[in-house]
Amino acid sequence: MRQPAGRPIAIALHGGCGVMSRNDLPAADWALAEEVMRTALRRGWDLLAEGAAAVDAVEAAVVVLEDSPHFNAGHGAALNREGVHELDAAIMDGSTGAAGAVCSARTIRNPVQAARAVLRHGEALLLAGSAADRFAASVGLPPAPQEYFTTERRLAALRTMQARRSAGTQATASEQEKHGTVGAVALDSAGHLAAATSTGGYTDKPAGRVGDSPLIGAGTFARDGVCAVSCTGAGEFFIRHVAAYGIAARVQHLGETVAVAAQYMIETELSPHRIGAGLVALDAQGQVSAPFNTEGMFRGWITPDGTIFTATHR
Ligand code: ASP
Repeated sequence: MRQPAGRPIAIALHGGCGVMSRNDLPAADWALAEEVMRTALRRGWDLLAEGAAAVDAVEAAVVVLEDSPHFNAGHGAALNREGVHELDAAIMDGSTGAAGAVCSARTIRNPVQAARAVLRHGEALLLAGSAADRFAASVGLPPAPQEYFTTERRLAALRTMQARRSAGTQATASEQEKHGTVGAVALDSAGHLAAATSTGGYTDKPAGRVGDSPLIGAGTFARDGVCAVSCTGAGEFFIRHVAAYGIAARVQHLGETVAVAAQYMIETELSPHRIGAGLVALDAQGQVSAPFNTEGMFRGWITPDGTIFTATHR
């Protein structure tokens, strides 16, 4: 990729750590998901190369992932126990510390854009449920009917999870059956960091359940000079460990590298709960960390030297 003159730019994203076994999908499906990640990365990178802000780049990259059925966000989001999509998203601008988020939204086509509008509006930080839906409509964001978000794969996952719940075997469900998320982090040419995350949560979640993704500090965090983080995995534990901020705090106050702090969060704090966990993080120089403890995590990045990388499994 073309590297603009001046300060380094970088972008990284994830498409969730709930990835199926390689053999459970045809090779063509994996290739398609990777192509979507490359499109999302390029969308963000092109903006950064033109001098746009990191917060614009992460929003644009996440929109591409929300629009794809391959990931659990926007079109293709997970269904809750009542067969309804309730969507969560957040975005944070590391240069100002400003953030916006929506949770339990039902009719916003691109929840990350609504989160961005909440940030811009600057009054509330987090809008919930039908009020979030109404806010998004009031600022001119396109609405979508519930059916827009539904895919055959998510309907099948809901049937399987509900059968498992009746049989008391939810614990044996694969990570992929349970959850997924999308997120992006970026460093712009002015040295600013940003993070965004968007999700349908997990399949068969209780109605009204809100995960870590829209909670600043839990699933999403960015602070200039420190790091930008977007998480994926069993959200309840990311909230309990204030995971995204926990990484930033270790970097800022203990002087750890982002790689060490991110690895510590996944391995030492989250993995003992026997949950799926992963994240992408970017430091102030554009170095990417993407630890995860599952079989795979959709992930990709373009580093300051312009190298593009995507992967699905270990
Ligand atoms: N963290 C998301 C949530 O708990 C799910 C995921 O990333 O897999 O809502």
